[in-house]
Amino acid sequence: MTEFKSLGLSDTLLKAIEEIGYDTPTPIQKNAIPLILKGNDLLGLAQTGTGKTAAFGLPLAHRLLEEGRTPEPKAARALILAPTRELVNQIASNLTSFIRKTPLRVTSVVGGVSINPQIKRLGRGTDILVATPGRLLDLVDRKAVHLNKASYLVLDEADQMLDLGFIHALRRIAGLVAEKRQTLLFSATMPRQIEDLARTYLHKPERVEVAPAGKTAERVAQSVHFMDQKAKSGFLVDMICERADDTCLVFCRTKHGAERLMKRLVAAGVSAGSIHGNKSQNQRDRAIKGLREGTLKVLVATDVAARGIDIPGVSHVYNFELPEVAEAYVHRIGRTARAGASGDAISLCSAEEVALLRQIEKLTGIEIEVASGEAPAPVKLVRKGRNQRSGQRPAQHKARGNGGQRSGEKSGPKASANENRKNRPKRRPRRENRAA
Ligand code: AMP
Repeated sequence: MTEFKSLGLSDTLLKAIEEIGYDTPTPIQKNAIPLILKGNDLLGLAQTGTGKTAAFGLPLAHRLLEEGRTPEPKAARALILAPTRELVNQIASNLTSFIRKTPLRVTSVVGGVSINPQIKRLGRGTDILVATPGRLLDLVDRKAVHLNKASYLVLDEADQMLDLGFIHALRRIAGLVAEKRQTLLFSATMPRQIEDLARTYLHKPERVEVAPAGKTAERVAQSVHFMDQKAKSGFLVDMICERADDTCLVFCRTKHGAERLMKRLVAAGVSAGSIHGNKSQNQRDRAIKGLREGTLKVLVATDVAARGIDIPGVSHVYNFELPEVAEAYVHRIGRTARAGASGDAISLCSAEEVALLRQIEKLTGIEIEVASGEAPAPVKLVRKGRNQRSGQRPAQHKARGNGGQRSGEKSGPKASANENRKNRPKRRPRRENRAA
């Protein structure tokens, strides 16, 4: 706690976080809190699960308390934007626990639920408004809230907001908040667009980086099983059934795929739920609560729905399908090994996905350990009329200089050329072959 004290936070906030059980600040908190307290703009490069919410939430609350003002009706003094409903609710719930010994008020607004109660709540004004961009603009257009008194703007998980197409909404919102303001931008990865966004919206920002952009969570043990797409669901069911005490998040690329897989798991006797775009907010909340409280063992999710959610105790993240965008892999595996715990990230990779796997390895700078099967040659989608000769196979993957066999590949059988084409794991992987 002494370390938290030395960061300059008020006693009221220190008392609250002591009660929550935070003892030592995480690296992002240690670095960011003093800078934010000084009033600097900040560009925070941090993975999910690093304690980002307190890194911006605590100094923000401190500064709002110091100003000692109360919010005007329909106004917000500080605005926090996040890409998904789940993340907004999570941030709001964390903030509420930080400020519960203060007169500050936190309000959250998200899409997918009735707007009228939100309009009513905003009528009184709020100190901190946490919102998804779309619903916020709806409320602005209905004149339920105005933002010109917001002198703090936080963009959390900015890269994901861009991925979700919120760039126009962000531009519009940035024009509505107070011109003289403190802006904090957090992102797990740093694509060009984020650099541009930072240049436009931040004024002489301090940069805080707790892990280089794209680096995957250090405590996550990552492995990959190569197999045919059709073999995946049976393989996953076996793997999950094998370990009764795991809490798992399984990622699929599409909502239909996620729903199908969830049903397959349930049919196999696994207590599984799903969160994706076809589920109502209540259904999603219930599923997340189920996993948190242990009534569900597995949550099957799409990237967008699971973005940023904090479920302590997720021991395994399965990539049932690899994400189209390599950065999403970093976000996915950041769902495990949170706040000091360790975790496993297990990817099931078909021939069609090998190129995606290579992109992930390039981004993260690591070679993911092969737990079973053998890396097939990547299947290239060739446009009609160009190089499309029947029977022609793409070149064998030789990037590692050992004929496609990767270093660290211990448990996978050496497949013949024929087996290679089929991409099926020959035997159950040895999952205990590294220190837990
Ligand atoms: P976040 O990255 O903000 O989603 O935080 C990830 C998890 O770490 C949450 O469960 C937080 O409650 C927890 N956490 C954040 N800061 C600390 C801290 N200083 N000590 C212990 N746990 C923390």
